Amino acid sequence: MTEGKFVGLPKIKYVRAYTVRGGGADYHDQGAGHWIDDHIATPMAKYPEYRQSRQSFGINVLGTLVVELEAEDGTIGFAVTTGGEPACFIVEKHLSRFLIGRDPSDYETIWDQMYFSTQYYGRKGLVVNAISGVDLAIWDLLGKLRQEPVYHLLGGAVRDEMQFYATGARPDLAKEMGFIGGKLPLHHGPAEGEEGMEKNIALLADMRAKCGDDFWLMYDCWMALDIDYATRLAHRAWNECGLKWIEEALSPDDYWGYAQLKKNAPDGLLVTTGEHESTRWGFRMLLEMECCDIIQPDVGWCGGVTELIKIADDADRKGVLMVPHGSSVYSYHFVVTRHNSPFAEFLMMHPGPTEVVPMFAPQLLGEPVPVNGKIRASALDKPGFGVELNRDIALHRPYPND
Ligand SMILES: [Mg+2]
Repeated sequence: MTEGKFVGLPKIKYVRAYTVRGGGADYHDQGAGHWIDDHIATPMAKYPEYRQSRQSFGINVLGTLVVELEAEDGTIGFAVTTGGEPACFIVEKHLSRFLIGRDPSDYETIWDQMYFSTQYYGRKGLVVNAISGVDLAIWDLLGKLRQEPVYHLLGGAVRDEMQFYATGARPDLAKEMGFIGGKLPLHHGPAEGEEGMEKNIALLADMRAKCGDDFWLMYDCWMALDIDYATRLAHRAWNECGLKWIEEALSPDDYWGYAQLKKNAPDGLLVTTGEHESTRWGFRMLLEMECCDIIQPDVGWCGGVTELIKIADDADRKGVLMVPHGSSVYSYHFVVTRHNSPFAEFLMMHPGPTEVVPMFAPQLLGEPVPVNGKIRASALDKPGFGVELNRDIALHRPYPND
């Protein structure tokens, strides 16, 4: 064997960040009449003028971020997440310096440099969304250069197929489509008083009657509740309707409230949260303070795959399930490699939602969708995350670095 300098993979030559409007990774950016914007309980619902529509307070203001990395040999890796134009600025004007000329195999160092160089204005939210988008694009490029699916790079599949629950307004239809459960958005928060509570229970009871006793039903509370309301909802929904879990009931900053809610909740009802939490440090708080039974990081928001490895390992050590929030192929390639991710979420992005449509349409081409509530691991057998960017959509590049 001859000794020589290790050459490695082609280096990253170009970094490009685009914004896109109209659904996709910013899945709240939908047209009128979509179930996802129909009087859903939020922390802004205490203001009556912002109660009917989340778009009224700006939930879709960011749009999608597309990060594209081109290697010296012309191979392109890309990813989509939420972040829009301000995330484009962060990627092109700040993070690109840690990418150009680098081997994508060096994702640990690149992540560390992206995180700590932005820590003085970052740590969570938009900046970590941007870092996540870059990290996912690195993993896509790595897979495309090595001609391997990302799940192979992560250790390989631990099961032949993934099973899904469906998030949307029609668990009864989700059951017919073969999903293992249905997660409803909560419609009424504390500001709507006892009348709102009765409506919340009535909707759940109606779905329980339609779905039968064995189908999982969950309530997604999108940070809208206080501890008293969440505790009362948890007990009534468990006793009267067999609720499986109560999700993101409180502000993601209120770790103490979650620890209390987990104590207050009836035995058998799961407390879940984490889609608006980020990094190993944020999830360490949730895990060590015993805030929940399932953590739900969004791989496009929590720091990307590189960070999700650390978050998932921490959860596994503590015996907590890690079931990622939405995020399509970026979650699937991870979930299929982990025993403590026994099922996954599918966001029903059809406006009804009366049929299964690709979660990040129209931005991704080749995006797999559940059939009879399942996706086979072999559906992921393409290089990288196994999808291509749809270049027929209007891509806007506001801050070119080259
Ligand atoms: Mg949720």
